[in-house]
Amino acid sequence: MPDQFQTRATLSIVATPIGNLGDITLRALQTLKDADVIACEDTRVSAKLLAKYDIKKPLLIFHAQSGPQASRRILQLLGEGKQIALITDAGTPGISDPGSELVRAVRDQMGNEVRIEAIPGPAAVTAALSIAGVSGNDFLFMGFLPHKKGRLTAFKEIAASERTCIFYESPHRIEKALASLAELLPSEGDDAKGKAGQSRRIMVARELTKLHESFIEGTPSEVAKHFAEHKGEVRGEFVVIVTA
Ligand code: SAM
Repeated sequence: MPDQFQTRATLSIVATPIGNLGDITLRALQTLKDADVIACEDTRVSAKLLAKYDIKKPLLIFHAQSGPQASRRILQLLGEGKQIALITDAGTPGISDPGSELVRAVRDQMGNEVRIEAIPGPAAVTAALSIAGVSGNDFLFMGFLPHKKGRLTAFKEIAASERTCIFYESPHRIEKALASLAELLPSEGDDAKGKAGQSRRIMVARELTKLHESFIEGTPSEVAKHFAEHKGEVRGEFVVIVTA
């Protein structure tokens, strides 16, 4: 490793598991062990991961609501030459999680003074896509769809898209989201088909890497019916894939 990397302040963006605590890279563990401070969203969540790997470090709370103060504190620590690791409750920071604004502020305000490094690992979007059996060469990832204003527009955008569309959904909204898709997407027998000339299909990857992991696939109305008939599965975490 060149000398400059050993002495410069570093901001490491570290991906952590999306469920199964075994899903963490050797490099992520080493980075967390080497950090002066670990910035995390919820100390209770991160404490479980850190305890499992016997990592004891000062934690600094950094979440969507922490405001500019938390960013300022991180910039200050970087200014002192510290190594900061940023993690979130699950997966890759910046992917429907805090991180991107901090990285932008460090790039803009500190430039070459700080080395920013990616420590890649799990993200629910790539995990879901990897078991979907659809091409991951061309897809539109939409994160969480807007809750109110703009939600219908987002579903219309999915319906009009020629790409595989992927979004994150919570248990509170999954059934309504499936109902909207069933209403807006062309169904079996319609003239309007997807890119491949077939009806577009829905896949719901639920609780990936966890005990109750499941993968439901079908036409929009079939998948909506599945959850209507299996209310016990309307809990946990969901990735929704709409094929091209
Ligand atoms: N940063 C994370 C990532 O890299 O995927 C995403 C965090 S976002 C706040 C949380 C959402 O991601 C959940 O509501 C769900 O839609 C999705 N998600 C996270 N973990 C998941 C899992 N184990 N199974 C299915 N979806 C998951």
